[in-house]
Amino acid sequence: MADPLMADVLIIGGGIVGASAALALRKRGASVVLLERDLCGSRSSGVNYGGVRRQGRAFGQLPLAQRAHRIWQDLPRLLGIDGEYVRSGHLKLARTAADMAKLEQYRDGARAYGLMLELIDPAGLRARFPWLGAGLAGASMSPEDGQANPRLVSPAFARAAAAAGAEIREHEEVVHIDHTPGGFVASTASGLTVRAASLLNCAGAWAGPLAARFGDAVPLTQGHPAMAVTEPLPCFLPQSLGMEGGDIYCRQVARGNVVFGGGRVEPGEGGPQAIRSTSAALFRQMRSLVQLIPRLAHAQVIRTWSGVEGYLPDRQPVLCASPAMPGLFHGFGFSGAGFEIGPAAGEVLAELVLDGTTSTPIETFDLRRFQPAVPSTTCQGVHP
Ligand SMILES: Cc1cc2nc3c(=O)[nH]c(=O)nc-3n(C[C@H](O)[C@H](O)[C@H](O)COP(=O)(O)OP(=O)(O)OC[C@H]3O[C@@H](n4cnc5c(N)ncnc54)[C@H](O)[C@@H]3O)c2cc1C
Repeated sequence: MADPLMADVLIIGGGIVGASAALALRKRGASVVLLERDLCGSRSSGVNYGGVRRQGRAFGQLPLAQRAHRIWQDLPRLLGIDGEYVRSGHLKLARTAADMAKLEQYRDGARAYGLMLELIDPAGLRARFPWLGAGLAGASMSPEDGQANPRLVSPAFARAAAAAGAEIREHEEVVHIDHTPGGFVASTASGLTVRAASLLNCAGAWAGPLAARFGDAVPLTQGHPAMAVTEPLPCFLPQSLGMEGGDIYCRQVARGNVVFGGGRVEPGEGGPQAIRSTSAALFRQMRSLVQLIPRLAHAQVIRTWSGVEGYLPDRQPVLCASPAMPGLFHGFGFSGAGFEIGPAAGEVLAELVLDGTTSTPIETFDLRRFQPAVPSTTCQGVHP
């Protein structure tokens, strides 16, 4: 058995949230051990669509999204790479007048959070985006939202944290965790033990049992967004596109491939741990995509995939100190939209650990919204 590792903070999960928390903590001098079951950034954080947008988020999420927006701008200095991040614009389309009215209402509300959106009428859409299909009622443009390559960005956060002095251990699955008078003690499947005063639960879609372990049960479920990508095509689409109602979204990377998503791989199509898309999901997406952009009718789809994402019923994450266990902090349940806000969530977690508070409003993300009466906890051994 190896000697136990000791740290101020133990982080479980090396996705974009855990890794950016590790980086933020190291920048403020805390010692950090991060344990990742697979490879850092190999789960949701590395396989997502790559949308880096604020538009469309619930207003309560916009302060966090604005904080993240500033971090994304700073990626080259922070990570040493740009992660193919571009502020390409995010165009959210409406099919009906009722959808357009929702976009208008959102535009008006978002202004208070510093998010400026431009409404475009059907004639404007035809003039500016002649490749769009017919029958659209208009759109809302967020000029400074954008896109990035998740396969580059998310592992880079872990690399930057390691370079800043965090102890990052991959292929280390936490199988047991306890709280003792000396702090948290975690053991991994390989026999590693880590002791730390504070614990960050950044285990993504697998965070529920770990939270429940310490009395913080939440209704976290797993879901599998369906994704696909075409062969490289002549570049025509600089913006990232979404649809009010959310059934299709797409973007074209610099190499010409069109990445698209929408809908989920349903339970039964690929099993509860499905990480691949299915033909049923793909056919649904392709119908919507070709209706939206008819010139893609003959594009070849070269790859499909999915991921395992943690969802909460109100589609808001849990980002807070544990109400039940001092020293425990949660950052999980990003419900299909944690890539953009992940770096800010990491910074917020670091502030909660070190300052006991954060400069970003996070009341919406308090775990107690699911637990009006929080049971007190005793830490009997169950696996996270
Ligand atoms: C297909 C898809 C498309 C998406 N598109 C977008 C998008 O365009 N824009 C956007 O903003 N968001 C998007 N999302 C959501 C976004 O990717 C996630 O919300 C975000 O990456 C969550 O980050 P995370 O660090 O919380 O979780 P993860 O990336 O899942 O990281 C959690 C990590 O914890 C590890 N772990 C779990 N249990 C243990 C354990 N016991 N011991 C050790 N390690 C453990 C896992 O291996 C995993 O690596 C998408 C998600 C998917 C799946």
